[in-house]
Amino acid sequence: MPGIAAISVRELRGVGPKLAEKLAEYGIRQIEDLLFHLPLRYQDRTRITPIAAAREGIDVVIEGEVKLADVAYGKRRSLVARIQDGSGTLTLRFFHFSAAQKNNLSPGTRLRCFGQARRGSSGLEMYHPEYREVQADAHDLDESLTPVYPTTAGIGQNQWRSLCGQALLYLQRAEPRELLPVDSTQGMGLSASLIYLHSPPPDAALELLREGSHPAQLHLALEELVAHNLSLHQLRKQHQREGAPALAPAPQAITALLSEFGFPLTGAQHRVLDEISGDLAKPYPMLRLLQGDVGSGKTVVAACAALQAIANGYQVAIMAPTEILAEQHWQSFSTWLEPLNIELGWLTGRLKGKKREQTTSRIAAGQIALVVGTHALFQQDVEFARLGLVIVDEQHRFGVHQRLALTEKARPELGRAHQLVMTATPIPRTLSMVAYADLDCSIIDELPPGRQPVSTVLIDNSRREQIIARVAEACKAGRQAYWVCTLIEESDALQAQAAQAVAEQLREQLPGLAIGLIHGRLKPAEKEAAMTAFKSGQTSLLVATTVIEVGVDVPNASLMIIENPERLGLAQLHQLRGRVGRGSAASHCVLLYQTPLSANGKARLGVMRESSDGFVIAEKDLQLRGPGEVLGTRQTGLMEFRVAQLPAHAHLLDKVQSVAGAIIAHHPELIEPLIQRWTGTDSEFAKV
Ligand code: ADP
Ligand code: MG
Repeated sequence: MPGIAAISVRELRGVGPKLAEKLAEYGIRQIEDLLFHLPLRYQDRTRITPIAAAREGIDVVIEGEVKLADVAYGKRRSLVARIQDGSGTLTLRFFHFSAAQKNNLSPGTRLRCFGQARRGSSGLEMYHPEYREVQADAHDLDESLTPVYPTTAGIGQNQWRSLCGQALLYLQRAEPRELLPVDSTQGMGLSASLIYLHSPPPDAALELLREGSHPAQLHLALEELVAHNLSLHQLRKQHQREGAPALAPAPQAITALLSEFGFPLTGAQHRVLDEISGDLAKPYPMLRLLQGDVGSGKTVVAACAALQAIANGYQVAIMAPTEILAEQHWQSFSTWLEPLNIELGWLTGRLKGKKREQTTSRIAAGQIALVVGTHALFQQDVEFARLGLVIVDEQHRFGVHQRLALTEKARPELGRAHQLVMTATPIPRTLSMVAYADLDCSIIDELPPGRQPVSTVLIDNSRREQIIARVAEACKAGRQAYWVCTLIEESDALQAQAAQAVAEQLREQLPGLAIGLIHGRLKPAEKEAAMTAFKSGQTSLLVATTVIEVGVDVPNASLMIIENPERLGLAQLHQLRGRVGRGSAASHCVLLYQTPLSANGKARLGVMRESSDGFVIAEKDLQLRGPGEVLGTRQTGLMEFRVAQLPAHAHLLDKVQSVAGAIIAHHPELIEPLIQRWTGTDSEFAKV
């Protein structure tokens, strides 16, 4: 009998060509693939919970007799049914219902319901529970916990359960291959772990499963993280097999540039510049992550790296995530590099028609040595004559594959471009080991001298008037301030509206003050005008949405008010706060929060008051919000694992590295099967 890695899902009952096709979209083709499609969570339908023991927020089965059913006319019409067991009563509530439904809930009917209890206007309630009528002595509860599978569309939970249940039966005849070296496993074997996670027994420790700390989960999480680590390793190896221009260090040019800066580099800047410079001199492409807190001087280091490429006759592309940031970089780089007779250009989405053509043709002809822009730089029609280095700012918004696509702009005969990725969002070590194992990492861990730490206070919104007065005072004394408006909604339009309303209100209250406004809905020229007015001191208060999060540099601004900071992640708050404290004046940040503030909210904002160290803040953010939020990659799916969870499994990471290392050294034949098993695809990079 063939191993289950070789048996098609078509063998299973109920799987015809249509379903097989849908399964293939999940990367599921063989029986074994199904076994690795693991539940996201579990429901406990193995027991009936007495109503009195139902707790808020936990899914339970309850069973009782309908005492009363009626339509209630509150804020919203709803059908309510009170049901009672020996221990207490609970209200079922349906906002969508039919007449037949109401009739079926007649008093005396015995119901079994599954749902989540919550506090409602009439005590414990369940909204839209699953329910059915049962006989008093029905013995048909489930025998194991009910898995809930990840699914998008096309395949229902019952279908997944049936498929995976069938796949489990095959385990009695053939086991999936154990791919980790024996001595590295976590106690529970592979098959036992899979069986346990697809159908945990009724007495399974739900709490452990929820946390991800059951031995079965640990076993598989280790394997998954090893597979992930190996795939990044393959990616990197493949990348290094390609050539890149060797760009020799250019000490004279750098000396000239340093005198343009007008300040010496810090020790940390020197160190990372040496690392980068060494990479650039090698004949294969650099992939380096440059981390450093806001204002630590990354851009300055990037300019030195750019100059090394230019001095070797190559072009440099600098990509920023927003127009405002691109603008800012354009100004910095022009100031530094124009005096050295270097031709610069810029290319963003707003450059159109003739001007755009001119720019792209000058890039193609190699007349522009350094071009700053947004992702518009990487549109198809943009061709570089001799692209040698790509610098990406704020990389946490890009995924691994986007990262690589950028360097392909170099002409094939010249090899790939080197790549330097800058991020001001410090990435906790635990995360970078997983998310960026394909990058080398340089860290600027020292601020330029003379920086004043920003003192941060938490003030509740009832003292808003006092804060407004304080802003007025600071501005009268010649300083400048930001007033940042936040909204939970992602919608640009709503954010813009909110900022506009605040600006109007402040203008009314502070008629003597020049107040600017900037938000994502303004036209690029308007944004630029608002920034220029603030930079030149024409306006002293700038009301803004979080568009000013990154890169904006106005040293005279020394006060920042952030409204509703509880809505933002810590990393984002840290970014925002980094806009002040860039000059020599003592700087302040006021977190103007909305009451009541949850305990978690208090703890989070407390971190901002206590620490100004981006790494400490990022570590806390990870604990409080999870990696998807911290990396800003929920959309890209970069950190979506099947079993592994971070930070819950962070303690496995050292082991992950050693196991992955051992596999690379002693069992390279296991690399492909592991990647294949966990990522569902052949690593396209390993094929070459
Ligand atoms: P980042 O990109 O890390 O936010 P920048 O490179 O934009 O930081 O530098 C922030 C500010 O500090 C800029 O105004 C820059 O000119 C200044 N700066 C950078 N390095 C130094 C240094 N070594 N000494 C003094 N000022 C510096
Ligand atoms: Mg910067």
